[in-house]
Amino acid sequence: MDWLYPPSCAACGKKGERLCTSCQQQIIPIDHQQACPLCDLPAVGHLCPDCQSQKPSFDLLRSYGVYEGALRQSIHELKYENDLALADTLCHLLISLYKQQNWTIDLICPVPLSPQRLRERGYNQSALLAQLLAWAVSTPFNNKALIRIRETRSQVGLNAEQRRINVKNAFAARSKIVQHKAILLVDDIATTSATLSACAEALKAAGAEKVYALTLARTVHLDSS
Ligand SMILES: [Zn+2]
Ligand SMILES: [Zn+2]
Repeated sequence: MDWLYPPSCAACGKKGERLCTSCQQQIIPIDHQQACPLCDLPAVGHLCPDCQSQKPSFDLLRSYGVYEGALRQSIHELKYENDLALADTLCHLLISLYKQQNWTIDLICPVPLSPQRLRERGYNQSALLAQLLAWAVSTPFNNKALIRIRETRSQVGLNAEQRRINVKNAFAARSKIVQHKAILLVDDIATTSATLSACAEALKAAGAEKVYALTLARTVHLDSS
């Protein structure tokens, strides 16, 4: 297929690769040593102010890179272009991040889209990433463990507190699937991590024992989302 339709870089458009080497090198990795031990936001040796004021429901969140430049551009392409090959390229970043963790995971789940958003877009980019990661690390994947039980407005433009309220009780998890398990949640981006925390809360209410989260990108300034 690449011979018939030569790929081009999702970030700069150069022909040849889905994400060219020079764009990949521009991605700024999150420095986990200089980050909040819970949620990966910049903070050294202590919990970040967000986690101090409201502890998230997940046990740990790690993100690969800062949501800007080439990473931001390629996630945008993934979201709106349904490019499976690009999902595969980006998933390699998640795989390397996953392998740096010392987690024992029973089940990998994506953050679900609302049924309405899913109809509009036709696919869930987080489910693509989660499925590819699950294959790569030979771990069960489940797309139905976690569901969105109500529509939420876009988080863009909301502050941390508004985001928390916006996604509160928006998710539910199926006990039969998640009970007593260590779950890995996968999403493309984390901003305040309010969505991941709401998902983790639902999973734990349904009996999940541990909930970890991985995202490709992390917004480190709220207004840039
Ligand atoms: Zn490029
Ligand atoms: Zn934190």
